[in-house]
Amino acid sequence: MTDLPDKEHAFLDWFNEVLERANVSDKRYPVKGLNVWTPFGFKALSLMDRLIREKVEPLGYQETAFPTLIPDTEFQKEGKHIKGFEEEVYWVTLGGKTPLDVRLALRPTSETAIYPMFSLWVRSHKDLPLRVYQICNVFRYETKTTRPILRVREIHFFEGHTVQLGEAEAEAQVQADLGSFLAIADALCLPYIKNKRPEWDKFAGAFYSVACDLPIGGNRTLQIGTVHHYKDNFAKAFNICYEDKDGEQKFGHQTTYGISERLLGAVIAMHGDDHGLVWPSIIAPVQVVIIPIARESDARSVNDFAQDVQRKLMAEGLRVALDASDERPGAKYYAWEMKGVPLRIEIGPREIKDNKLSAVNRLGERSKIPGEDLMAGVAEALEAFDASLRKRADSAFQERITIAREEDELKDDVVSLVGWCGSEECGKKAEKGGDRSIIGTVMGELPIDAKGMARPSCIFCGNDSSAWAVVSRPL
Ligand SMILES: [Zn+2]
Repeated sequence: MTDLPDKEHAFLDWFNEVLERANVSDKRYPVKGLNVWTPFGFKALSLMDRLIREKVEPLGYQETAFPTLIPDTEFQKEGKHIKGFEEEVYWVTLGGKTPLDVRLALRPTSETAIYPMFSLWVRSHKDLPLRVYQICNVFRYETKTTRPILRVREIHFFEGHTVQLGEAEAEAQVQADLGSFLAIADALCLPYIKNKRPEWDKFAGAFYSVACDLPIGGNRTLQIGTVHHYKDNFAKAFNICYEDKDGEQKFGHQTTYGISERLLGAVIAMHGDDHGLVWPSIIAPVQVVIIPIARESDARSVNDFAQDVQRKLMAEGLRVALDASDERPGAKYYAWEMKGVPLRIEIGPREIKDNKLSAVNRLGERSKIPGEDLMAGVAEALEAFDASLRKRADSAFQERITIAREEDELKDDVVSLVGWCGSEECGKKAEKGGDRSIIGTVMGELPIDAKGMARPSCIFCGNDSSAWAVVSRPL
């Protein structure tokens, strides 16, 4: 055991401490809410970006890069959008010493940077669907207490933007995006709840918003991905229109898809434990650490063998560290566990003699890897590790969600599923009990087994419910 703060009862203390001890990010930068990614943390973030690219490009998305600065004149075009962001925008008003004619917004999101160009790019139905994405930093003047990775003012952000022929095509894009998000989350061994956000909490300017939320303990949830259907709201504001097959001018329908560095925060929050970080193998900055265990007399042959193993695994594309420092093995185990490395390989004289390596994964499961089949053995051990991690996360997920049939069954230590009539009046009643709220209505299957239970009536007014709603405290 380490002396980390208790994760269940002091989550934010635990989270900050783990980031610091594992050296993921450095919060000492002299502007509040702006954090520095260390090489170790940035490696994980880059691997997450790679995973996102791999899952969205088969849907037809192409990577692009738009400017960071947005002229106020474009920013003001969609009324609801600007209203939703007006409290959070940083403005550039000077160029050197000269006041700018039109002030420039540091993008809080890029609709208003991208859509003036879409309006030029889209001419004919043949130009559609148009799908682009960028991975960039966005800026939001967060007024709540900032937290490293979870609530920052400069955010590492994936944003996908599409233009479609009509509402149905946009709807299909929303479903395709959600399908890719499922694959991303699965690769990260993360379960989540898929929610349609309530009207009053949808993205500024959207027709509707879907969010993926992860319960992280207590009744807290973390939003880890969003997909929005805009209908033609932005297309009308930015004049994104095309000529259809019959020569008629029509507005495109649009969707967006967002994932931020919070997804990495979710990985840390969900999988980390009393010993520190736990990375799923796909984004682990170091997937395998090799620890030579030798007496002085055989140190040289053991180290040579360990180096050979490292070289072979790295040649296959694995991320492998060899810890040949003078630390005692116990101290090395502790340090690499804190860094969340999925697999540790211990090599001593016996392993060399038997040509069988001893492996222990980050969840404490042991295995033997045959020396003659090194790569296959390590790949299998990593796969088994991910499977166990997924299982552990699923079971924690199930324990963090319950069904509440009465208002006084809403609890502070779990997320609740309730019947809800859909009215805003009842929705707001959920907020009476502190900072909890209805974060959305469950889309698709219930995230937990309700054992065939019929949906209960509205927990607040007793009328028929129209959906299962999720009550939690969003972090
Ligand atoms: Zn009601």
